[in-house]
Amino acid sequence: MSKTETEFQIKKTEEEWREQLGDFSFSILRNKGTERPFSSEFEKFWDSGIYVCKGCDTELFSSDTKFDAGCGWPSFYQSIDKKNVKEILDLSHGMTRVEVVCAHCGGHLGHVFNDGYDQPTGLRYCINGASLGFKKKQ
Ligand SMILES: [Zn+2]
Repeated sequence: MSKTETEFQIKKTEEEWREQLGDFSFSILRNKGTERPFSSEFEKFWDSGIYVCKGCDTELFSSDTKFDAGCGWPSFYQSIDKKNVKEILDLSHGMTRVEVVCAHCGGHLGHVFNDGYDQPTGLRYCINGASLGFKKKQ
């Protein structure tokens, strides 16, 4: 386990995470996997509500900031609160990217890119739907 992973408040064993999340979401959130593009139920999903971390229920993104980037993954132009979403420089796979993780459990969510050209922030949070839960607006 790397140093950054031990800094998060919520700590569980690999087995506990796998049992809670199921194999697929475990592979995304805990092993930094990437779901196939256009495979998520949330990719073309526009209900109003709050997207939460599937690992720990932390509120991550509002449907108000979701947009159709055409990239195949749920995309948002900003997080709900910078305290809830941590950004980490990611140099893996020979690329320079910024990884996005849940600030409370350290679960891998996706990456943020600065190619959200027509969005208010210019950012595109490219998020694996398998890392998210959804709470419908009451
Ligand atoms: Zn979390």
